[in-house]
Amino acid sequence: MKCPVCELGCNIKEGEYGRCRMMTNRDDAIEERFADRYSTLFPISIETMPTLHFYPRHKFLQVSSIGCNFSCPGCISEVLTMGTETICAALKHLPPEKVIAKAIKENCKGIAFCINDPTVSFFTFLKLAKAAKKKGLLVGFSTNGYFTRDALEQLIEFTDFVNIGFKGFCDDRYKSCGVSSSAPVFRNLTHLFEAGVHVEAAAIHMKGYEDEVRQIARFVESLSADIPFQVMRFVPFGEADIEFEPTIRESEALCLDLKQQLNHVYLFNCPGTELLNTCCPDCGTTVITREFFGPMGSRIIKTLPDAICQCGRQPVIKGDIAQLRYDEHGFFGGYRTTRAFEMLHAIMVCIGADDPEKVSRLWFDLFESNYLKEFHETVQLPGEYGNIIDRLSQKTDCVETGNRLKQTINTTLDLISSKTRDVERPTVYYAMGYPLFALNAERFETNLVEAAGGNCLNKRLTRKGKPGVTITREELMAWNPDIIFISGFLSCPASDFYDYCIKHDIRVSAVENNRIYDHFPLWDFGSPRWMLGLMYIANTLHPQIFNFDMEKEANRFYTAFFNRPFDAKKANRSFYRV
Ligand code: SF4
Repeated sequence: MKCPVCELGCNIKEGEYGRCRMMTNRDDAIEERFADRYSTLFPISIETMPTLHFYPRHKFLQVSSIGCNFSCPGCISEVLTMGTETICAALKHLPPEKVIAKAIKENCKGIAFCINDPTVSFFTFLKLAKAAKKKGLLVGFSTNGYFTRDALEQLIEFTDFVNIGFKGFCDDRYKSCGVSSSAPVFRNLTHLFEAGVHVEAAAIHMKGYEDEVRQIARFVESLSADIPFQVMRFVPFGEADIEFEPTIRESEALCLDLKQQLNHVYLFNCPGTELLNTCCPDCGTTVITREFFGPMGSRIIKTLPDAICQCGRQPVIKGDIAQLRYDEHGFFGGYRTTRAFEMLHAIMVCIGADDPEKVSRLWFDLFESNYLKEFHETVQLPGEYGNIIDRLSQKTDCVETGNRLKQTINTTLDLISSKTRDVERPTVYYAMGYPLFALNAERFETNLVEAAGGNCLNKRLTRKGKPGVTITREELMAWNPDIIFISGFLSCPASDFYDYCIKHDIRVSAVENNRIYDHFPLWDFGSPRWMLGLMYIANTLHPQIFNFDMEKEANRFYTAFFNRPFDAKKANRSFYRV
């Protein structure tokens, strides 16, 4: 029997599953395997979704399930989209009226299905959308846009806003995601736009595929130059190769090019970029200032009254701008939840607990015990990391390997802290992406600097964001760090960082003495590999004390905990893949 929901059109035999593993054929009818079940249900600000020109700053209830009809390399939600069988036991069952009640209780303006694709939970979402509209809530979703005409037609009358994500322009880009053609996505964007739904288009920028993005932009322009266009700088979160990751500078250059055609082009996954701001298409004045707020996310910092420019022009924005901003807590919101799961998964890989049965048991336990809240606090502290390892290894019967990992990490921590106890501490500033995006005071990396015998200036920050905030040039100048580190998660080459400082006249010791250091991907956060980052920081801060041979140390660590030697060419930004 043919599934009518997406253009893959799976023929599903009785009792079997479709390609997404979310639909089945039961008694000659296509139905969902996990109807009314959700992986996330919590309020977010709409900019986290991200949607930028629709009821800015308003709170929406984020809902998501698991699974996907695509299989894109580098998927940020991999843990939810590919791990259907391991995570399904942890899903929370909630009928539509209870989801609506939650949205209303939380003062949400509406419901936003995001993080995974609503196609794979189509019937659940359709029911929810109908119920939400009856209660006067707004309804929207993020999607890869692969609905069949009929499925979209059913949904469209209950839909107010959509973020439609393009994998590329040509069919080849879609083939790499396991589907045959890009045509349905362009068709559906057109249909949504013509039906009066608020649409924003998102396109992935992979290095070497700039023309794909340009062609998508041209198509969007043919509908309207006012459609907000989101460029997602590609970050290889899954198995994808790091060679496809453009630098922030390269993505910015592409966006500036696209601004010739489109009125509102935005750049994501680039902490510190100014290209998240809304500028007046006529005079260029900044109307809404935003900053990075986690992968694929942003938040509003300030806005001109009603987003009207001094020249009188108003960018095309649907709905009012909420007076107050809603900042999500901890890992709750957008793709941060998937990052939390990947961090836990990274430990499980290192202790040999990553077989599907153990992962499934653990996910269930973590959801049931609401552990993510506690995890957000403890994971920031290198000295507490051993307790997280203990918890996971006990739950998965991997105590011996857990102890080995804990001991390896703690021995290194103790060695470095004992040797740096009475030494002079150089001042260190920790940035993510561009120079003026400072990691939060309590972030893991800032604690890593302190553990390596540094005086981390980020500790002076009193405001915080996810995972940091934009500071001014003057603030950084006043701090005058001896040394600067750039995060190994969302990074920037040290040479680009240096050029930015020179261009913006950021005169601090670290720049004048060219003491700016980037990290090997993910050696400073998100995976037990941070132990190597700690050694690297210690080498850099105290070369008179430490001379760790990083190649050798990495080889030892990778062999012991990943069962393979270290290979510098095999870098990516996944927390648990090496
Ligand atoms: S939603 Fe798409 S991928 Fe899933 S079973 Fe239906 S046609 Fe196949």
